[in-house]
Amino acid sequence: MLMSQVFVPTLREVPKEAEIPSHQLMLRAGLIRKNAGGIYTYLPLGLKVIQKIEAIIREELNAKGSQELLMPIIQPAELWEQTGRWEIYGDEMFRLTDRHGRRFCLGPTHEELITALVGAEVSSYRQLPLRLYQIQNKYRDEIRPRFGLMRGREFIMKDLYSFDRDEAGLEESYQAMYEAYTRIFQRCGLETRPVEADPGAIGGNSTHEFMVIAETGEAAIVYCTECDYAANVEKAELLPPEEEVLPTEALPEQVFTPDTKTIEEVANFLGLPESATIKSLLYEVEGEPVMVLVRGDHILNEFKLAAYLGTSTFRLADDDFITENGFITGYVGPVSPPKKVRVIADYALKSGGSYVVGANKEDTHLKNVVPGRDFEVEAYLDLRQAQPGDLCPRCRGELKGARGIEVGQIFKLGTKYSEALNATYVDEEGNSNYIYMGCYGIGVGRTMAAAIEQNHDENGIIWPLPIAPAQVIIVPVAYHDEQQKEIADRLYHSLMAAGFEVILDDRDERPGVKFKDADLIGIPYRVTVGPKGIKNGVLELYERKTGEIRELPIEGADRAIESLLRSV
Ligand code: ATP
Ligand code: MG
Repeated sequence: MLMSQVFVPTLREVPKEAEIPSHQLMLRAGLIRKNAGGIYTYLPLGLKVIQKIEAIIREELNAKGSQELLMPIIQPAELWEQTGRWEIYGDEMFRLTDRHGRRFCLGPTHEELITALVGAEVSSYRQLPLRLYQIQNKYRDEIRPRFGLMRGREFIMKDLYSFDRDEAGLEESYQAMYEAYTRIFQRCGLETRPVEADPGAIGGNSTHEFMVIAETGEAAIVYCTECDYAANVEKAELLPPEEEVLPTEALPEQVFTPDTKTIEEVANFLGLPESATIKSLLYEVEGEPVMVLVRGDHILNEFKLAAYLGTSTFRLADDDFITENGFITGYVGPVSPPKKVRVIADYALKSGGSYVVGANKEDTHLKNVVPGRDFEVEAYLDLRQAQPGDLCPRCRGELKGARGIEVGQIFKLGTKYSEALNATYVDEEGNSNYIYMGCYGIGVGRTMAAAIEQNHDENGIIWPLPIAPAQVIIVPVAYHDEQQKEIADRLYHSLMAAGFEVILDDRDERPGVKFKDADLIGIPYRVTVGPKGIKNGVLELYERKTGEIRELPIEGADRAIESLLRSV
């Protein structure tokens, strides 16, 4: 590629709309441009990176016996109605109607379509297992599209679906994908960590997310410092507390606590740690109030609450609901409630200590309250979110916290979709069985963004070599100089002939400008052809990642660079 001809509109200024490094740098390096919120054009060098990531994905998935196909983006509503997801997907789904009034959506994912396909085409155990995937645009009308390609409304996803005869087969497919994902992200130069996650709306019972560890990540994870346990905080299990505190003899007593509606305000007002208080959260569960208690310094995990309640149709009560049921916002508590309610408490409240709780009376709290003694608890269970410092549920080691970007996720779906869409096969004995499914996604654009989050400095992107838009950029200090031009051209053609992607900066710009652009775009190696070097018979090779500069004899420089690129 000749730099003078490449369509790479770089920017000197940091665009205001971009908050995180990957978004800023993709815009500045001329890799993407925005068309509408969460909708982007991939410019030539950006597309190159996307294609490289896709090529790695294809190689690794094909190596695991997967086959690529391509399904339509536009999908009929009827299939989604059969699985109930036409409703469940809600506002995140882009919907459209054709000229005959038939309803469609732009595919946010493809479980429905592929299950219907495989259900129609597969009939015998001899046709299984199957692993089918595509790489294609997905459409989700995200509430908050942001961070460039990180959370788009139109984005490229690789989605693979596995079809097996039984649970054991599914386990094998899941393991194969776990391995493929590990290799894919490694080959992309990313440091990832697979973590246990909550299956959420997609269903199924087991899932891992592949997280790129980065401060800007939207997900909070915890990992054990002693064993390899790691989980999204939404999922991380916690053990019941071991130590028992002796309950206080003192009985509940009212304290005047004016204008202290939050835990922080109450704790400050009484000069107590937040852990000496109880957060009484009133939930509206199918129209009825349910009180959920966690220690003041803990955070409720609604996924765990949903699992216990057996429904996900509940919400934190608003002021109206609180008042309608006789409670007082900011002073809700489990002792002498205005109305009998179910009370569910986190494990941590079972240890026997005493706490401050809302008194169900304006500007008043109760102290010396002992759960179980002063009010009845329907159940103590693991209800809170894990946090750094908690004990590992596997080995009791210490959990640490980190932030992560979810670049991929793998799910065991079981027979949820094959039952809904009647995808069956006939076994050796002639019995009809539901097909066991798994689904496996990778956000291609998000992977590109995550690679930048992990690999950049104040001067720009530092592409990992396997996904760089070009491996080498040749920068003649003055291209109009006959000798420099001759050496630069020769090296350029020779490296291209050897199969590398090379940019020759043939522009009539000052060297400083060319170096800045090369750094910003993040090309892993830069070769400078300058008068001083030529006089000494050498070229200068600069490595973007380390900043290391070495000299290469002009004669044989192509072979030296070739062997360097092949060795890393
Ligand atoms: P998130 O929790 O971040 O919304 P998800 O769980 O909805 O992600 P999946 O349905 O599992 O995502 O999709 C598979 C992969 O697609 C994700 O791991 C992620 O890399 C990517 N992805 C999902 N939503 C987006 C988006 N809005 N923009 C870019 N990539 C996305
Ligand atoms: Mg999601």
